[in-house]
Amino acid sequence: MRHVAVIGSGPAGYYTAEACQKAFGEGVRVDIIDRLPVPYGLIRTGVAPDHQSIKAVSKRYEATALSDNVRFVGNVTVGQDVSIPELLDLYDAVVLATGAPHDRPLGIPGDDLPGVIGSAAFVGWYNGHPDFARLDPPLGGPGAVIVGAGNVALDVARILAKTGEEFAGSDIVGHALAALEPHGIRDITILARRGPHEIAMTPKELGELGHLSRATPLVDPADLPPADADAALDPGLRKSVGHLRAFAGNAPAAPVSIHFDFFAMPVAIEGDGKVERVIVERTRLDDSGRATGTGETYAIPAGLVVSCIGYRTPPIEGVPYDAKLGRFANDEGRIAPGLYAVGWARRGPTGTIGTNRPDGFLIAERIGADTAADSAKKGRAGLDDLFSARGVDVVTFRDWQGIEQAEIANARDGAPREKFTSLDAMLAARK
Ligand code: NAP
Repeated sequence: MRHVAVIGSGPAGYYTAEACQKAFGEGVRVDIIDRLPVPYGLIRTGVAPDHQSIKAVSKRYEATALSDNVRFVGNVTVGQDVSIPELLDLYDAVVLATGAPHDRPLGIPGDDLPGVIGSAAFVGWYNGHPDFARLDPPLGGPGAVIVGAGNVALDVARILAKTGEEFAGSDIVGHALAALEPHGIRDITILARRGPHEIAMTPKELGELGHLSRATPLVDPADLPPADADAALDPGLRKSVGHLRAFAGNAPAAPVSIHFDFFAMPVAIEGDGKVERVIVERTRLDDSGRATGTGETYAIPAGLVVSCIGYRTPPIEGVPYDAKLGRFANDEGRIAPGLYAVGWARRGPTGTIGTNRPDGFLIAERIGADTAADSAKKGRAGLDDLFSARGVDVVTFRDWQGIEQAEIANARDGAPREKFTSLDAMLAARK
């Protein structure tokens, strides 16, 4: 028997459990530990609520979770209820699948003004993450600025632009739907510090902006490179740039405009006690393709700034950490004897949900090579002893199924669920 503890129940965690099952069959026991009483991490609180087809992958994780050799151990905070050294003592392998839930800081003057919000917080707010349920973002408008040219920027722009009817069938939480409903925002500006050929936006997500009922995406044709330059791009990016070329043909139309502002880098955020404007510097690309300031600046009025410039994995005391890359220091997943990282905690916040699957298999392979099949470790029995001695209130997968049933029962018409947004409400909903 091999005993494996996975910390984090998002895609990387469940794919690791699935890979361990495939690699070791009945010869493995996997405990998936999560700080929250609910599983699935980014699938539940990161993937946009109007992208239900992406969220459907949780059914696959459920199949893994319901097998006898995998357990969900929810409502357990590593570092508080149990330490990494204790887990290393109990398990042959401890896999950090903690994702990258912290925002990369903008690092410009004024980025701490009220109304400047990182995407982890903003996305967590509309997705019902208990840490951000009380965020109360300023949505009065008329201007909102989104920093970054990735898919999260697109998610945020789309959520700000949609009408209530366009959220039909989504699981956006009630507090976000109600706060977005007055529709005060008229101008959404997406600031991209480089050009259309350097975006990190994928075609499907970009194309969605072209089909919003009350919002029009706008691109300044002068920002677009000559059309024949698109031929050298990889097919996905070429398709994305095709959408931008189509948006360049749009005329401003009421009530909401989504402005793509390319070669535009925020250098300061100003306002009297709250954000009122973003100071932007025009950029050009240097020889290595990086954005460099031209000295030309202008101001964009905004009551809300959402910074969507990527994420960082929070460090854990005693675990080697690469501060520059914002993730655990690791050699292809190995951190130290018995300690591994997987997913965004291993490689940083890139790729799709599916990218984590090969990552899980890589770690299972490493575990197979590094550990013996006849472990003398105590595994889950040892963890249970420790938690009963400490009075830790563990949430099981069956408990989660009770919470899920209550969320489904609470759903508004046409919605798949109404999520609980506080730990107390989640814990109270256990059957
Ligand atoms: P991302 O794809 O890495 O994009 C970050 C953007 O922020 C880039 O355009 C980057 O520009 C810009 N940026 C970074 N630092 C900046 C700064 N200091 N000032 C101004 N701009 C800055 O990150 P993301 O959008 O957070 O997405 C994370 C991952 O999740 C990605 O792999 C993404 O595809 C994935 N995701 C997928 C979906 C989906 O498939 N539907 C939805 C959401 C997220 P430079 O390129 O110049 O550095």
